[in-house]
Amino acid sequence: MSNVHELNFLKEKIQQLKDDGVYRKLPVLEGASESEIILNGHKVINLSSNNYLGFANHPKLKQAAVEAVEKYGVGSGAVRTIVGNMDIHEELETVLAEFKREEAVMVFQSGFNCNAGTIQAVTEKGDLIISDELNHASIIDGARLSRADKTVYKHADMEDLERILKESHDKYRNKLIITDGVFSMDGDIAPLPEIVELAEKYGAMTYVDDAHGSGVLGENGRGTVDHFGLHGRVDFTIGTLSKAIGVIGGYVAGSSTMKEWLSHRGRPLLFSTSLPPAAVGSIIEAVKLLMSTTEYTDRLWDNAKYFKEKISTLGFDIGNSGTPITPVIIGEEGKTMEFSKKLLENGVFVSGIIFPTVPKGTGRVRCMVTAGHTKEQLDRAVDIFKKVGQEMGIL
Ligand SMILES: *Cc1c(COP(=O)(O)O)cnc(C)c1O
Repeated sequence: MSNVHELNFLKEKIQQLKDDGVYRKLPVLEGASESEIILNGHKVINLSSNNYLGFANHPKLKQAAVEAVEKYGVGSGAVRTIVGNMDIHEELETVLAEFKREEAVMVFQSGFNCNAGTIQAVTEKGDLIISDELNHASIIDGARLSRADKTVYKHADMEDLERILKESHDKYRNKLIITDGVFSMDGDIAPLPEIVELAEKYGAMTYVDDAHGSGVLGENGRGTVDHFGLHGRVDFTIGTLSKAIGVIGGYVAGSSTMKEWLSHRGRPLLFSTSLPPAAVGSIIEAVKLLMSTTEYTDRLWDNAKYFKEKISTLGFDIGNSGTPITPVIIGEEGKTMEFSKKLLENGVFVSGIIFPTVPKGTGRVRCMVTAGHTKEQLDRAVDIFKKVGQEMGIL
């Protein structure tokens, strides 16, 4: 009898995680994603979601989801290239193109599979992908699916990027520079004007993953490209519909040529069922809401400034974020996880982020302030940071 079904090779790896002190269980959220939540049975202030605008449980979005379900049912029934491309999917792309101020938008089922599908569709053997070293995992995986050569430049380092562009000049048919618009671990904004300039100088295309910039930066949250006034100069702008927009999905904004091609070669579009009607209905409502008022983005930035000011006044190191993402840098890995654990015990949930997600010795808890937080909740969170910081000798 073989014991192959015991999966002993995995059990050994799991034991290794435990020995390394990095084993964990998934936290369980009881109820909606709100600024104050019940997590694993305890009431805590939520400083860990990507629900920047508080849309994930917004009554208008919920109503739109219900209406879409009544009219279109719960599933789309097929991939978009067969019979799963409903008129609301088309409407969503029209609304998103207007929002992003681009010619066309192609929607995918998530930000992750948007990167997985798009990068490989627009590059091939004989091309070069040039990627910021801190780009998101879905970009790294997406690039792996491409037959193009790949190289990495030092984070936001324009000299290093130019060196690569110079050295690869004439050696490749197409070059594609890929960067996050906003880097999720530090909250810093990519130097897009410089990147675009270098791209134009050396004849490269640009690809910006704006998962943390859309709904946050730019006019009415139009994103990093809008923030810098670079419309028409970035070839592929990726956004997610799961963070600020509060639902699920991803998209590429750009030219209609891009869209035409992806409708033939974007593999997640061809081989995975399209977004369900409830999601599509609520996303359309979210984007219309964003375009109609700056109420949500204003409150997001107001809360972020309020919280950052208070936390840095206490004496914490909050890095150099240019967005509501607020890293509180603790340093050593064990101490960072201890800090996060103590915050949770005292009523604030902020996830600890350590090596290898960030460089060794730069462990931090990453605070995600949203439009949904009240000043009272933020004050309470700050008090808890102060208490735990003093107890642990950080302050
Ligand atoms: C979150 C994130 C994604 C993935 O988006 P999902 O819609 O959650 O799949 C992709 N890229 C970046 C930069 C992200 O931060």
